[in-house]
Amino acid sequence: MEKDILSMLPEEIGLELERLGQPKYRAKQVFSWLSRGVRDFDSMTNLPKSLRDRLKDEFSLYEPKVLSKQVSAIDGTIKYLWELKDGNAVETVVMSYKHGNTVCVSCQVGCRQGCAFCASTIGGLVRSLEPSEILDEVLFSQLDSGKPISNIVLMGIGEPLDNFENVMRFLDLVNHPDGMNIGMRHISLSTCGITERFDELAERDLQLTLSVSLHAPDDETRSMLMPANRGRGVDKLMDCCRRYSRHTGRRISFEYAMIDGVNDTERHARLLVRRAKETGAHVNLIPLNHVEERRFRPSTPGHMKAFIKILEDEGVNVTVRRKLGGDVDASCGQLRRKIRKETGTV
Ligand code: SAH
Repeated sequence: MEKDILSMLPEEIGLELERLGQPKYRAKQVFSWLSRGVRDFDSMTNLPKSLRDRLKDEFSLYEPKVLSKQVSAIDGTIKYLWELKDGNAVETVVMSYKHGNTVCVSCQVGCRQGCAFCASTIGGLVRSLEPSEILDEVLFSQLDSGKPISNIVLMGIGEPLDNFENVMRFLDLVNHPDGMNIGMRHISLSTCGITERFDELAERDLQLTLSVSLHAPDDETRSMLMPANRGRGVDKLMDCCRRYSRHTGRRISFEYAMIDGVNDTERHARLLVRRAKETGAHVNLIPLNHVEERRFRPSTPGHMKAFIKILEDEGVNVTVRRKLGGDVDASCGQLRRKIRKETGTV
């Protein structure tokens, strides 16, 4: 198979150039063209023609195509559906906040984790994304929208810790000073709790924010909602969170989608308080996004208010995520799913 130059760091491009008998220092130039979205070696005007020809023979370049783009009339949130080189499609969302623009990227086509409230997982996992494909979601969303991206959340389709190596490489690429240069402190990685990978992630000492999709503080509710909890359990997840925070010095964030009558009772709130206290985690409440194929409903405003009050009275650090892009299928695999149903293709 042809080597994917778009997934290479400058040092690795340097080795390829060396192999081709070319000076290594050109690597930085090639990397920075690619990082600006140039997908044609002939446009790399500071490279000698002979090198451009050589690169054309060795590597092929690809640029994702916009299959669908929806702009929210309410808040300007943009939802892209990108076509990848093998015809598969992934979703990317661009959200604008006062402090800048955040992009929410997918890391897999589909997902194998099977969370009961999520649309991404309905057709199972098709394949994992290459590092360059994740990077291109950020880059081409920025280029197409004209909105400079300052923050990234790995909260689109897929489970990042199920595509560990490629996600780590994506982080190296997007963080590189000669590339998009987005700081780790501006990146969040969200997981359903693949605890086996927490230590490995901690070892990398990244300054990113680890978000754990908790959604329930007890095994009975969590295992019903999230198959990933079965065989692992909330106690073990909490141990791993604690160890992660101790090692990295970074506070973890718990994602908690509030589901009517399922995880929003006083009993859940009190247990969540304990879980937050034992890990020092911040709690991010999300009103559930209703997914057509799923039977769950968002909590009522009254229940949410009572739930928040219990957390706040106990001194837990809690925020409620603002809902953006409600009119553009902007949650979790809904657009890919819809287009797939309509066209039977992607
Ligand atoms: N696989 C990773 C990241 C992708 S999902 C994870 O599980 O964390 C990003 C977040 O959206 C997760 O917290 C996920 O649980 C949540 N989510 C999925 N479906 C949702 C829905 N219908 N409403 C609200 N949040 C949802």
